[in-house]
Amino acid sequence: KEKKAAPLTKEELGRATWTLLHSIAAQMAIISRLYPCKECADHFKEVLKANPVQAGSQAEFSQWLCHVHNVVNRSLGKVIFPCQRVNARWGKLDCKDRSCDLEGTVDIK
Ligand code: FAD
Repeated sequence: KEKKAAPLTKEELGRATWTLLHSIAAQMAIISRLYPCKECADHFKEVLKANPVQAGSQAEFSQWLCHVHNVVNRSLGKVIFPCQRVNARWGKLDCKDRSCDLEGTVDIK
């Protein structure tokens, strides 16, 4: 099988990083601050300033990350994810009953 050799796109990088971040949040570990897309990192710094990390518990951390991901989603004109479904989406590596397909349309504050 031929392997893809082209550089990572902004979309691929973002998708992979959100996957890592949400997986980490679901397992309660540490988020890395290094991010190779400068435009994204600069924007995210502002997002973090307005939304300081809340990690008093794994559940709180997951909800906080869902919220800041939605802030980025909104700035990019993407669908807002319903945060009450974050454990169904990211809590397990296997996805029973199509729980990994969940995407939502609810508004955030
Ligand atoms: P992604 O946003 O990558 O999401 C992946 C999956 O996560 C979705 O398919 C969905 O199932 C799930 N999901 C979506 N929202 C949530 C949520 N709120 N909570 C839980 N799960 C959710 N791109 C830019 O063009 N400009 C930027 O400034 C920028 N800043 C970024 C900052 C950071 C920290 C990161 C990690 C990425 C940034 N990106 C930015 C990339 C962008 O956010 C997306 O990752 C990229 O556009 C691919 O989008 P996607 O539609 O595949 O879904």
